[in-house]
Amino acid sequence: MPKPILISRRGVIRAAAASTALLACPAIAKARPKVVVIGGGAGGATAAKYLRHGDDSVEVTLVEANRIYVTPFTSNLYLGGLKPFEALNYGYEGIAARGVGMVFDSVAAIDRDAKQVRTASGARLSYDRLVLSPGIDFRWDAIPGYSEAAAETMPHGYRGSAQFQLLKRRLDALSDGALIVIIAPPNPYRCPPAPYERASMMAHALKSRGVKNARIVILDAKDHFAMQTLFIDGWERHYPGMIEWQDPTIHGGIKAVDPKAMTVTTDFETHKAALVNVIPPQIAGKLARDSGLADASGFCPVDAGTMISLIDPSIQVIGDSATGGEFPKSGFAANNEAKGAAMILRAELLGERRMPIRFTNHCWSDIAPDDAVKNGARYTPQDGKIVASDPYTSQLDESAELRAKQAREAAGWYIGMTTDIFG
Ligand SMILES: Cc1cc2nc3c(=O)[nH]c(=O)nc-3n(C[C@H](O)[C@H](O)[C@H](O)COP(=O)(O)OP(=O)(O)OC[C@H]3O[C@@H](n4cnc5c(N)ncnc54)[C@H](O)[C@@H]3O)c2cc1C
Repeated sequence: MPKPILISRRGVIRAAAASTALLACPAIAKARPKVVVIGGGAGGATAAKYLRHGDDSVEVTLVEANRIYVTPFTSNLYLGGLKPFEALNYGYEGIAARGVGMVFDSVAAIDRDAKQVRTASGARLSYDRLVLSPGIDFRWDAIPGYSEAAAETMPHGYRGSAQFQLLKRRLDALSDGALIVIIAPPNPYRCPPAPYERASMMAHALKSRGVKNARIVILDAKDHFAMQTLFIDGWERHYPGMIEWQDPTIHGGIKAVDPKAMTVTTDFETHKAALVNVIPPQIAGKLARDSGLADASGFCPVDAGTMISLIDPSIQVIGDSATGGEFPKSGFAANNEAKGAAMILRAELLGERRMPIRFTNHCWSDIAPDDAVKNGARYTPQDGKIVASDPYTSQLDESAELRAKQAREAAGWYIGMTTDIFG
């Protein structure tokens, strides 16, 4: 027979008072809504922070595989020797201090029926709503001879701290006469100007070290690229004869790479290179695809006005994994989407005021120290898609002063962005 619970008179009064208070205040009586955010990068970390919004009415848990986030944005400046590696590193103390529960683990699966996230170490986290921002994955089999293992020899340098550092070590080991081949991906991919800013920063690093007769050949899957005339003009001014860009009509298609022989074979020739930087075609992060949230494009279709998945209404997908319409895949964009998604989600869960989402994107690219160009636009959700308006881009005839100012602007943007995400 169960023992009776003995309770003092004072205890009864306390319990009665507490239950009256709970009835008078339904917000306390009701369990707080649980939101799990997966991926602590530009999108996910921003969303987790803004979901807290200065109060604890939503229980937010951020699950991230790594304790330190290395920003892909400005990693090209690290490559060019303009920034130390440590300057790209961010921890999650600021986000935890806002009351976000941090779980450092890799998410193995999302059980969408049970609304549960399962981590690699076996933990299960229940959610009312899920925000997913796992970044990009690669189509590893798109280029014959390339693979995840081959990336150890021919780095992509496009995500993950080890790859950024490997690419830099390889670059720093090059000597006179070295040939670098960069394989640039088809659209859509993260940060459209990044492969060309990368070529610029590689050239700058080699020039600064006095490496003679080095060449960089960019074999592109596209017939044009972001800010093309500005980059080509900058290459001629800063690195004459050093960088050659080939579109598919010139190289005829990439047939294969051979990591052992360090060769890249196109329809017309075989390049034997000292460094090959393969940036493969891109798709949504593996977890998003494994969870059935991507469509045939490889990315996750969302309603652009809410970032809610068109496949599962309890999930918002933000950042590079989401189909962006005309919105480029960038840290700037992921941060915008995260704030919009957090506002929409709080409005839905807490009955807060909801305003229409508006996006902007500005993208700075350093061609050389003190010579940065930029482009940008506004982006508005229309009929579920994101449509661009008011685009602008730097001009060819800009003064050296303006270019230097834009380089300072870019540095200022980075401080502002990382403070907004992690501060
Ligand atoms: C060379 C380069 C230069 C760039 N320059 C710029 C720039 O100048 N400006 C700009 O705005 N953008 C730039 N970008 C693009 C920018 O970095 C990305 O668009 C942005 O980081 C996307 O944010 P995200 O949240 O989608 O992904 P990420 O920032 O990549 O974050 C994804 C996170 O999810 C985590 N994750 C993934 N899967 C799991 C899992 N299963 N479990 C737990 N955690 C998981 C990862 O560890 C990672 O931390 C650049 C990118 C590159 C590569």
